[in-house]
Amino acid sequence: MSFFKFDEKLLALGEQAKAGCVNEFRRIDDIARYNQQKVLSAFIKNGVSESHLGVSTGYGYDDRGRDTLERVFADCMGAEDSLIRHNFVSGTHTLTVALFGLLRPNDRMLCLTGRPYDTLIGVLGIDGHSDGSLADYGVKYNQIELTSDGYPDIEAIKKELAANTYKVAYIQRSRGYSLRPSLSVNDIKKLCDAVKEVSPDTYIMVDNCYGEFVEKNEPLQVGADLIAGSLIKNPGGGIAPTGGYIAGRADLVEKCAYRLTAPGVGREVGASLGHSRELYMGLFSAPHVVGEAVKTAVFAAKLFENAGYAVTPKANDIRADIIQSILLGNSEALVAFCQGLQAGSPVDSFAVPYPAPMPGYDNDVIMAAGAFTLGASIELSADAPLREPYAVWLQGGLNFHSGEIGVLSAAQSMLEKGILTL
Ligand SMILES: *Cc1c(COP(=O)(O)O)cnc(C)c1O
Repeated sequence: MSFFKFDEKLLALGEQAKAGCVNEFRRIDDIARYNQQKVLSAFIKNGVSESHLGVSTGYGYDDRGRDTLERVFADCMGAEDSLIRHNFVSGTHTLTVALFGLLRPNDRMLCLTGRPYDTLIGVLGIDGHSDGSLADYGVKYNQIELTSDGYPDIEAIKKELAANTYKVAYIQRSRGYSLRPSLSVNDIKKLCDAVKEVSPDTYIMVDNCYGEFVEKNEPLQVGADLIAGSLIKNPGGGIAPTGGYIAGRADLVEKCAYRLTAPGVGREVGASLGHSRELYMGLFSAPHVVGEAVKTAVFAAKLFENAGYAVTPKANDIRADIIQSILLGNSEALVAFCQGLQAGSPVDSFAVPYPAPMPGYDNDVIMAAGAFTLGASIELSADAPLREPYAVWLQGGLNFHSGEIGVLSAAQSMLEKGILTL
């Protein structure tokens, strides 16, 4: 590997790590192959054609490319219907449209997985006033805390659902930037079964961010009613330039469409502006790209495990999303890791990230992101708040060969600063 100046011992550690991931890589390939067949067959079944890849403008009436993509995506997710559009500006916006689509004043929403992802706090309007939040519109929010091992508390959930009527039960599949385990589709099935048993009319909505195509099944196939996520994560395949999706029961998707555009107008409008081609291509590539990202995560886990660090999930654990956290133990290590990862990125490799204050965090945060799409976390990237337990969250990697270099570059930077010794 003469293009990069990596320490010989580090290269040996990298080879050893890869050799220790053979079974995991085989499992990942098996899932990617299955999901690729699922996606390809959805393209064929829906007769995707060259004419679907074109441009619509203005209102976007009768945009066959957009409408067909929504049927293809629904088939990929095991959904009756879907919205998949560049008009969603982020994952948070997509989840917001879905929540406002489902909930009405005085309805109750119960989060089954403890405190939701940071950006949802303002949407819900908890922790103080947030103008235009669900709380502002009279929606009542409640959450069931996770048990001490980080899993949902099924008994407490059933008890609360029996005591009060909830319109929405909300599940966050990925750990996000916490250290709790991410939920497997099977874990989600247990939650769905519990909700349906006690409160069959409650809509089960899943924040599916970072989980798409990591397993063979998706949450809608085990009882969820609606899922939503971001296209600059897994299902955009690194090609979608922006956007989000909502998929699930047709009646619920329709409610969301009325919220996305206007009541009575719904999904019939929305010019694709030429983005359909990127959304089709991204979806087509997504199973493979997600597999590469999961391989990168597993490789990083193994390398840092072998170097003596605690990692979660462990290299050999079954994966439920693309996120890997590595407990590096102190600020200097977090900074060295992120600076090294950045230096190994295809874009902005020369930039040197430093910790800085971030809205919504009490501590400084350092981030490494050398991505083609601003903020895309299906591309190799890392984030670390400078606080206990001094963990870095690593995700993405468009292909394993470059993901491997990025991870080695992070380790090399720690080595050069005397933080890692081999
Ligand atoms: C990324 C993410 C979101 C939404 O994120 P955006 O940054 O708004 O795209 C929501 N929930 C989870 C679990 C996420 O990982």
